[in-house]
Order: sequence, then structure tokens, then C-alpha cells
Amino acid sequence: MPELRLNLITKEWVIISTEKAKRPDDFKSRKRGRILPEFVATCPFCPGNEDKTPPEVYCIPESSKWKIRIIPNKFPALDREAERARTNKGLRHSISGFGIHDIVIETPLHNMTTALLPLEEVVEIIRAYKKRFIEMHSDPRIGHVIIFKNQGTGAGTSLEHPHSQLIGTPVTPFQVRSRIEEAIRFFDITGECLICRIMKEEKEDGSRIIFETEHFVAVIPYAALSSFHTWLLPKRHVGSFSDISDEEMSDLALNLKIVLSKLYIGLSNPDFNYSVRSNRPNDAKSEYFHWYINIMPRLSASAGFEMGSGIFINNSLPEESAEYLRNVKVP
Ligand SMILES: [Zn+2]
Ligand SMILES: [Zn+2]
Repeated sequence: MPELRLNLITKEWVIISTEKAKRPDDFKSRKRGRILPEFVATCPFCPGNEDKTPPEVYCIPESSKWKIRIIPNKFPALDREAERARTNKGLRHSISGFGIHDIVIETPLHNMTTALLPLEEVVEIIRAYKKRFIEMHSDPRIGHVIIFKNQGTGAGTSLEHPHSQLIGTPVTPFQVRSRIEEAIRFFDITGECLICRIMKEEKEDGSRIIFETEHFVAVIPYAALSSFHTWLLPKRHVGSFSDISDEEMSDLALNLKIVLSKLYIGLSNPDFNYSVRSNRPNDAKSEYFHWYINIMPRLSASAGFEMGSGIFINNSLPEESAEYLRNVKVP
């Protein structure tokens, strides 16, 4: 029988459709393998084409080239030069389109993917995220910064070259605000952080844990929104990603690489999104909020029902997905 499960972080219901449940390896990506070259002359992110992008705001050099470049998005969603000005006219509220939109070019190699990158290079990417996350937040016009990656056309990007993005917005998005409010509500009732409590229960239960390292736990949520939806939860309670230590950054890189390698091998290199869910640096000491990373392989498209109701349908059992990923061996 199908089951509805409640995601306590968002208070959203998810239909776990066990009737239609497929076997975990039925989710393997069907996209036709296309061998990408290491270098594409027309790609603006490939080495030698640096003049096709705006000047970088950060760069990790390596011999004659670079290892990582962070550049302003040439076609930004928001304008970094604008003033933050609010207008309220009756029921019409608006803010000028101020914001900061950065692209992190993760490697000079056009055909690389996080799963295959050397660990030290993934550590450098995390370090670059932290640096820009803190810098963007130091601008008083910024209300929230989201760090995210879209890999593949199914995840919303047409640019093949490995990259991720940071967008600083002048407002706190509703999705973030509602997670913070739910976390406060849970703390008011129980005196506990919701994520710390979830992590404790998941570790006791064990069935949805994929693996854990010294500083992180990789788990498929009880009410996973879609197949193989995964959380990377830091074991140390802290409200903001800005507070991550050097040791935790190395361990996070290892975790990200293991999860993405398990997806790459076990599900044949699916498109995916990941994002860092974090409070602001000023709220790092918050007792109720706990930052984490959300990873979503794009294995099926969400449709009208999800859009219309906000109720997701997951055609896989989170416990089976976790077991499947536990057993995928990574190098
Ligand atoms: Zn390229
Ligand atoms: Zn916590």
C-alpha cells in the first residue's frame, strides 16, 4: 500500500508509492553516453577563453594556468551594482534587482565531473565556496546566499563545463524562511535542534544511512522527495556553513565525492542538483538551525501534481535506495 510520509523540515507530505516502486537499478540514467573532449574551443569556461568571461573575482592559480576560477555571471539573475531599494504600492511590493551571482569554474577540464575529480581539488572547491559565502554575506545589502550546482540538462544547465554557482539575494527566500520557522517551532516544543534529533534517530535506526565519516552522515531522508534524494548532515551542531573548519571541509569533500561517485557508478552518471542549506554567518551560533547539503539526482521529472499540490511522489523506498547505495563500491 502506498504511504504518505511527513518531511518534518518542510512539513511537506511525500507519497512513497510502493505499488509502483521500481527496483533501485531501474533508476539508472538512460541518457546516451556521449564522450566529451577535455577541451572545447567554443566553451567560455575552457582555458584560453578567459577573455570570454568577465574578470575573475577569485582564482587558484596552478603553474601557467588555473585550478579554479570564480567569475561574475555574464548574464546574472541579479545586478551587483544596483542599490537595494524597496517599493510598496498598496499590495504591490518590490525591491530593486540587486544581488550577486558568481560562477565557480571547478576545473580547467571540460569533461570532468565531481565524482572523478581528485579529492584535493574537491577540497579547494569547498574552500572557494566558504570564502565567497562569507564575502557575499559581508555586504549589508545581502539577505541570503545560496550555493548550488546544476549538473546536466535534466538538472537545468546547458553548459557542460563543470561549474557551480553562488547567488546572494537581497531577501531571505520563503523556502529558507519556512525551514527556519519550522526549526524554531520544533526547538520551542522540544528544546532540541531538529536536524540533531533526526541524525540521532537515523543513526539508531540505520536503515536509511548510506555511510558516515568522522564529521558527516550521508542519509536518504525518511520522506525523501524523490528517488535517491540524499542529505549530507554535519555531525557538529552549527547554524551556518561559514563556520565549517578546515578538517570538516576536507571531510565534506570526501563525503561529496563518495555520494556523487556512488550515484555516478550505481545510477550511470545521472544529472543532479545539490545545494547548501545554511543560515547566515551571524546566525552560526543559533541553537535551532543546523546547516546541511541537499543532493537530488534527476531521475524522473516532477509533474503537474507536484506543482499543484506541493506533494511529491517518490517511486522508490528510501530504505531500499539507501541499501542499494551502501552496496555500491567506490574507488
Ligand atoms: Zn569547457
Ligand atoms: Zn543541530
